[in-house]
Amino acid sequence: MLATALGSPAPFGQSQFAFMRGNAFEAKVKADGGTELLRLMYERLGGSPAPAGDVSTPDLSAAGPEGRAARTALALREATAAGGWALLDHPMLALEVAGSPAYLEPDAVVVHPDGRWTVVEIKSFPMIDASADAAKVGAAARQAAVYVLALERVAAVTEGAEVGHRVLLVCPKDFSNLPTASVVDVRKQRAVTRRQLTRLTRIEDIADALPEGTTFDPACSPQELESAVSSVTAAYAPECLAACELAFHCRARSRAQGAVATLGRSVRGELGGLTTVAGVLAAAAGKEGDPADPTVAALRRAADLRADALESAAALRAQAPEGVAACR
Ligand code: SF4
Repeated sequence: MLATALGSPAPFGQSQFAFMRGNAFEAKVKADGGTELLRLMYERLGGSPAPAGDVSTPDLSAAGPEGRAARTALALREATAAGGWALLDHPMLALEVAGSPAYLEPDAVVVHPDGRWTVVEIKSFPMIDASADAAKVGAAARQAAVYVLALERVAAVTEGAEVGHRVLLVCPKDFSNLPTASVVDVRKQRAVTRRQLTRLTRIEDIADALPEGTTFDPACSPQELESAVSSVTAAYAPECLAACELAFHCRARSRAQGAVATLGRSVRGELGGLTTVAGVLAAAAGKEGDPADPTVAALRRAADLRADALESAAALRAQAPEGVAACR
């Protein structure tokens, strides 16, 4: 809503058709008390199959996200103590992000008889010949890692519980509507996310630094919103395009500032203290920068090599017969 009010609507989102197809696939996977889902689970993760009709599916309904998170925690504790199979359909988990609670809703969590909890992600992108688009699998793994972190908070106060770091990714098989699954180890993504969460500035600290009366109410004029959004430091990177509704807005700001971050985090990292395209070009041309700085030295060397290459190409063109030069 904020992006639309700013005049830069979110670049992503599912079409109504894709949304309905995704919902229908998820309902198929979870049909009959999760029979197919649990079959895929023990097929991929091992262990003994869940006896037919012996899987508990607790009711997780409660008022508000806080109530649903408390109900989910209770259901997880009860299922673990019961020592049987349980399928929690769309549980609600809470995780502290920048000092405030964030509520998360995995597609499902399965409780195993041995007290293990496994996150299940159901996606509508296909798994062709047992492999899926690596970028989509990576995004699903990062998402599941956040759920694992949130589940670990509940597991820490639940006797006999352990959160599995191997999550079950369920997708349509080849070009059909039949489910298939693969196991994704999310330990690396979990470690990265945990590190990032500890580094986040607390929301209270960000709010304290804002000018008095700042509001992000989408009902305000685009000018007021522009000024409010500009008062918060943004660190745009191309990855924002797949995850944040303000991506188009932040990209335009970043480009207007000539920030090298627009070119990607790896480029930004390589350029060290040079944060603008103008600064990089000036350093490469020998107009700015400390020649002892390895980044500045590398840029100047690259600029020299480029100049040599262009000079050689120009000399070759000048020597070439007229017809050949004309073809170029
Ligand atoms: S910098 Fe990226 S994540 Fe932050 S508000 Fe802008 S688009 Fe969103």
